[in-house]
Amino acid sequence: MVMDIEAFRKAGYQAIDRICDYYYSLEQKPVASQVHPGYLRELLPAAAPEEGEDFQAIADDYQKLIVPGLTHWQHPNFYAYFPTACTFEGMLGDLYATSATNPGFNWACSPACTELEAVVMDWAAQLFGLAGHFLNSSEIGGGVIQTTASDSALVAIVAARARYTAAHPDVRLEDLVIYTTTQTHSLGVKAALVLGLACRALEVSADDRFALRGAALRAALDADKARGKHPFVLVGTVGTTSSGAVDRLDEIGEVLKEHPDVWLHVDAAWAGVTLACPEYRAPAQLASINAHADSFCTNFHKWGLVNFDASTLWVRNRRHLTDALDVTPEFLRTKQGDAGTVIDYRNWHLSLGRRFRSLKVWFVLRSYGAAGFREHIRKGIALNAHFAALVRAAPPFALVTEPSFALSVFRLAPPLPGVADGEREAALDALNRAYYARLAARPDVLLTQTVLNGTFCIRFAVGAARTTQDHVERAWGAIQEEARAALAEWEAARADGA
Ligand SMILES: *Cc1c(COP(=O)(O)O)cnc(C)c1O
Repeated sequence: MVMDIEAFRKAGYQAIDRICDYYYSLEQKPVASQVHPGYLRELLPAAAPEEGEDFQAIADDYQKLIVPGLTHWQHPNFYAYFPTACTFEGMLGDLYATSATNPGFNWACSPACTELEAVVMDWAAQLFGLAGHFLNSSEIGGGVIQTTASDSALVAIVAARARYTAAHPDVRLEDLVIYTTTQTHSLGVKAALVLGLACRALEVSADDRFALRGAALRAALDADKARGKHPFVLVGTVGTTSSGAVDRLDEIGEVLKEHPDVWLHVDAAWAGVTLACPEYRAPAQLASINAHADSFCTNFHKWGLVNFDASTLWVRNRRHLTDALDVTPEFLRTKQGDAGTVIDYRNWHLSLGRRFRSLKVWFVLRSYGAAGFREHIRKGIALNAHFAALVRAAPPFALVTEPSFALSVFRLAPPLPGVADGEREAALDALNRAYYARLAARPDVLLTQTVLNGTFCIRFAVGAARTTQDHVERAWGAIQEEARAALAEWEAARADGA
């Protein structure tokens, strides 16, 4: 019996009840799923059922079979990767959006989908202090919701390429170069792969806190241009994934003034939402974003309270997007599109159809208000500052680089008596890998690792909606406990070897 409206009503109420129970019980669950690879294939039949099944059995199997295989990103002791927002307002926005599913590719598909997106993107632009030219109401630049920051970067790079090749029609595609840094998210390399273009990752140093400086960019541009290459886009980052580094967009902007056909895309997937707070606009380089960026992206779906997916992309000039991406076959033409009175968002991204994502952004921004949004961001930063202070005060724990917004990167750096200077870094690396393996095996907290210019370290990223100072302190307890065990193990191995 497939579900009719009344059966949906019943199953829907039950689903909401069970989701509420899930949230009540979240803290009692292990943060990371404890299942082994292939666990689900062992439990599921090899093919879809021939006859339809009772929905109650299906719903029960979700609890029994799927939930144990979930890592709970909303768990208050989740400090891995970056947070992935999930709010009840966002969930309901998604539910309504899917209830009226439509592919929203042009205005006439469902006028509300296009119009709400154009409005909430302007709300978000103002929340972050973006300059007027990024607003849809400017009718020059504008904002669009993409699936991910990777899609946003790809779209920006496609637009940059189209702008560059239009200005330089004789340039061979094999001479075009995408600039990133060694700390840029893999989205730069991914875009290069997809587009069949070269990508050059500029070196950055620990002394500069892993930020790209103007001088390094200028040297690379000069060298590449001298050998006939055409760098046409730079992906700058505000808040790199590994360590939260912020490229020096002020210096970069000055250099790019001498190279005005190089597009600056600013990827602030994680940290861009801090721009909601006036006190973080300087560290997140708002003035330079407004002065120099051709495109800017941040993800509401990370730290920004809106459920995956909601990556917001703004461009200085929407024509660069539509020049690169506008394909309007006869069957997609509309009166309003032809007249140029409406946005046809299909020409602002890669696919034709699109989800009605603005609804959940609208729900969240209205329910939290700008003040509630800022409070959430400030809470994450305060919790991270608390964590960083605990690390600083407890050698042999050491921060590897300055904390950035709501991210700290640390490791154990004990004196290691008896280890020669030349072997110290290798020994610390081995010790920290063993330490992280212990930490990763714990069910009650989840952190992830990274390598910064050869140094193995551990990341602590705060921002889940339910994390409190109490949780951070309990996590710190676990972090210390495993450190004591790892250090004792190292000393025992050393005594054995001696
Ligand atoms: C997470 C992250 C990304 C990738 O985000 P997606 O939306 O999953 O593509 C890109 N850049 C930075 C700096 C990130 O932290």
